Amino acid sequence: MSSPIDLVLARLEPFRLRQAGRDRWRACCPAHGGSNPSALSVGVGAEDLVLLRCWHGCEVEQVAHALGLELSDLFPAKPPQFHTSGKPARRRLLSAGQALDLLDGEMTLAVVCASDMAAGRPLDESTRARLLQAAARVSMLKDEAHA
Ligand SMILES: [Zn+2]
Repeated sequence: MSSPIDLVLARLEPFRLRQAGRDRWRACCPAHGGSNPSALSVGVGAEDLVLLRCWHGCEVEQVAHALGLELSDLFPAKPPQFHTSGKPARRRLLSAGQALDLLDGEMTLAVVCASDMAAGRPLDESTRARLLQAAARVSMLKDEAHA
């Protein structure tokens, strides 16, 4: 998989792209369509994030869209975090309420397992695996809260 900057540079190729230094480029801005080959500054920021700056005032999103890209294409792919409601959770984007909901769900599972065991019913393989997953999720929640 290529990094975000490779993708952006490939798309900017027709816009008189030229290198302006280490990890820095200039090009015509694809969003407002001017012919000034210095209108758009391109750089690489922390964690390989692609930086786009149109000196004419176009929003980063407009520039990305003009290249057929989404804002998310400017960010390097991150390993998947744990999921809530089908959407990938971003760091620090989980509200305290969401975190507690998740914790509540995992606790309920643990309580059900505990009462099964107390009643003399051993946990089957998949329930045990699910319980381990619950522990891992709670641990990730903790990391998330401390991030
Ligand atoms: Zn522009």
